[in-house]
Amino acid sequence: MGKRARARAAGADGSAELDAAPARPRGRFGRPKRTPWSERERLGHEAPGTVLRGPPIAVTCECGEKRDLKYGDRWTCETCGRIWDTEQIPKADYEHIRKTQFKFRLLPIGLGLLTLSMAIFFTLTGNLFSMFLLLPVALMAWFMIVRPLHRKAYRKAIADLPRWELRPQGP
Ligand SMILES: [Zn+2]
Repeated sequence: MGKRARARAAGADGSAELDAAPARPRGRFGRPKRTPWSERERLGHEAPGTVLRGPPIAVTCECGEKRDLKYGDRWTCETCGRIWDTEQIPKADYEHIRKTQFKFRLLPIGLGLLTLSMAIFFTLTGNLFSMFLLLPVALMAWFMIVRPLHRKAYRKAIADLPRWELRPQGP
């Protein structure tokens, strides 16, 4: 088997990026022939890529060319002409990843809203001392405690996600 597709955490904002590397070619006659996922998945579904949003899928071609694709995209490699179809990734798997990413994005947004509502509360109650204490304390707590734990948990969640191998179509 060749390199495996893998999911990895990328960036502080909790975005996920997926690497999808293909299996190595098995020679002229050795390539397994299966029903392409694209044919099975497209039947009875909405137009690919329009409804689903989620992390980009980093596809690495066998020739070394790389491209970030959305789920549902097909990409014809400019260098060697191989065709890569991200719909070979089962839809349920990608949905799982999209939801995981979304879940981990909620925490920073929630904490930001909490800080904001506390600022409004302190302002309305005329508690200026707490008001000026709030921002540095909130930032310190975020960078020193919450963010490292959050990143760790996110990496772990991403590492548990499924892996795929894409198979090229065409030449
Ligand atoms: Zn290529």
